[in-house]
Formats: sequence, structure tokens, C-alpha cells
Amino acid sequence: MIYLDNAGTTKMDEQVKLAMLKFFDVEYGNASSLHTMGQKAKEALESARADIAKAINAEPNEIYFTSGGSESDNQAILSIARMGRLNNKKHIITTKIEHHAVLHTLEKLEKEGFDVTYLDVEKNGIVNVNKLKKAIRKDTILVCVMFANNEIGTIQPIKEIGEICRAKNITFFTDAVQAVGHLPIDVKAQNIDMLSMSAHKFHGPKGVGALYVRRGTPIFSLIEGGAQENNKRAGTENLAGIVGMATALKIAIKEMDKTNKKLIKFRDKLIKELTKIPHSILNGDAALRLANNVNICFEGIEGESLLLLLDDEGICASSGSACTSGSLDPSHVLLAIGRPHEVAHGSLRLTMSKYTTADEIDKVIKTVPKIVEYLRKMSPVWDELEKGERKHVI
Ligand SMILES: *Cc1c(COP(=O)(O)O)cnc(C)c1O
Repeated sequence: MIYLDNAGTTKMDEQVKLAMLKFFDVEYGNASSLHTMGQKAKEALESARADIAKAINAEPNEIYFTSGGSESDNQAILSIARMGRLNNKKHIITTKIEHHAVLHTLEKLEKEGFDVTYLDVEKNGIVNVNKLKKAIRKDTILVCVMFANNEIGTIQPIKEIGEICRAKNITFFTDAVQAVGHLPIDVKAQNIDMLSMSAHKFHGPKGVGALYVRRGTPIFSLIEGGAQENNKRAGTENLAGIVGMATALKIAIKEMDKTNKKLIKFRDKLIKELTKIPHSILNGDAALRLANNVNICFEGIEGESLLLLLDDEGICASSGSACTSGSLDPSHVLLAIGRPHEVAHGSLRLTMSKYTTADEIDKVIKTVPKIVEYLRKMSPVWDELEKGERKHVI
């Protein structure tokens, strides 16, 4: 299998698995217990917290463990919203290309009386900082802009956005699930107040993540119960998962430069070769993008059919986010960068990892054009386009 859906999830690193094992059957204590087994668990927990804090230049007591990216996103947004309610400030600024964990949480808040500004992005998928500045109001409590996009890989001007928010005393939250372990992050230098991460996006286990909350930023619990995580997230900690996440992040940071160097070569080769297919277009910025991300639209085909035929060839790809797969709506991200509905349907996302090889890239470069051509031959829409009865849009 050629696995090119690493924005969806990644293979766990062998070293991560090994680091986790003893917490299942040897050091299986509960970190809240007073006895020796409990205290050993507590030590492992705090050591993982310190490692994760260090990885993003935060303090250990600014890290809260969660069940993953979605929970971290929810907790960050709902905490600031609750603060806003108490102060009668109900305006939030975000973008049209956020992950659904952010967008759906904000839609829920709109129904509860919050006013949310969804910023357009430029054609290359990048937020316009001036437009963001202009959108700020007296009652703005939160700016929520993702670090890097999960569909088109675009990297946002996080430091500048953070600077603007800090100057206006507005909380800045970034969903960094696609960035942590893939890009250098420094929450202090980048003026970030809250940040979410998820272990399974950087070769760690599924079902574990973290939320960074800058000291002084309010945070409330979504889950009531015990006093874990400084009273902000009840429930016995997923210690094996947390240790796995810390191990995975340390490895990812150590290997980051080497991996990115290799993947940028693969990425640019894929983009160069696959956009030679007539009536195809790259989605997102060519340079300000994650090293592992390729996203291309092909006119006149259905992305779903392309994926099924690629799967028959042993290639696991995606048409966008795992969350929109299975629904007939085109990607909100592709619509936001101006792709018409019919073009947005013909998208292909290839996301690589450190395990991706040059041979795999060559196989993809051979296979995709053949399948696109085959699908176009069968497509009545392509027929109309070729006969000139319908205008090409890309
Ligand atoms: C994967 C992803 C999430 C959700 O993380 P989970 O750990 O799967 O809940 C949130 N935001 C972005 C940008 C993602 O890529």
C-alpha cells in the first residue's frame, strides 16, 4: 500500500509504540493515586508535559491533555466564549477554511447569540491580515485562525496575527493540529494564547492531544469529575497515549528538517508533474504550504471515482478532509479559495510522511494521469467541454 493520506492520520512510529507498552501492563498506575505505582505514573505524566511544553516553548503548567484535536478546539473556543458571556462581549473572528471542529463549535455559538465573522481567504488560501485587522470590534473576544490548513496545506501568518491580537488584548487561538511536529512553533515568539495539537497527526497514537493555554488566559472544563489537569479536564489521564504523544513529538522535532527537505522535493515534483495534466490546477499557495501536502483539482472528473481507482492501484489518497468524505458537499476550503462547485468536486489530496519513498512518488506520477484520462473519457461533462458546449473553467 502507498499511504498518502497523512493529513487524515499517520502511522505510529515504532519507537513510540515501544515507549507506550510498559504503561499498559507494568507501570499501569493511576497518576492520581498516592502509592508508589501512582506516583510513578504521575512522574511519567509530568515528564511528558514538560517535553510537550518545551517543544513549543511553553511552560509545563500551560499544557492540558485532552482526547485530541477536536476536544482541544472545542475547549479553547468554548472557554473564551464563556468568558465573553460574563463580560457581555460576543464577537469572534475566524476564517472560512477552518477545520469542522472549529467551524461547528462556532456555529453552535452563533445559535446562542454570538456574532462570528468568517474571513475570506485570498485565492492562494492565505488570510489577509489587513482584513482581519479591520474586522476587529470593541466586543471582539477571540480570533481563531488555524496554523496550517488540513486540505490545502497553506501556512498562515501566525506571528503577525498574534501581534495584532496581543496589541488589542484579544485572545488568539490557533488550531495547530497540522503544524505541530511539522513546522517550528514558538508560542512566545508567535504571540499565541491558545493552541491545539493531536498526536496521531505526527506519528503518535490516536485519541490523545493537548491544549496550550497561556498563563492568564481563562480556561474552563468541558468535562466535570475529578481534579485532573489542574481541575480543567476531569478523567483518568490516558498515560500511555500521553507518553506516546511526547515521544512522537520529540522524534518529529528531531527529524523535522530532514523530513521536510525530502518532502519538499517530492511535493514539488508531484505538483510539477500532475499539473501537466490538461485542465488541472494546484490548490493553495505553491510555497507557503506544508512540505507534505499536494492538492490539485482536475476538471471534468469526480474526486470520489479517482480515489476508488487509485485505491485499486494500492494508493490511499483523499479528496479533502476525512470529515467531508462521505458527504456530497464539495470542500468548504476549495469553495473558499474560489473553486466553482463542479471543479471542487474533482480534487485530489496527497499528503506524505517521513515513510514516503521516491518510488512511491514515481508510481503516483505514472498512475494519476492514466486514471484522470480514463475518467474523462467516460464523463458526459468532459464530452461537453471537449465539444465546446460547455466552457472550461480551469
Ligand atoms: C485532524 C484535525 C483535527 C481533529 O483532530 P482529532 O485529533 O482527529 O480530533 C482538528 N484540526 C485539524 C486542522 C486537523 O487536521
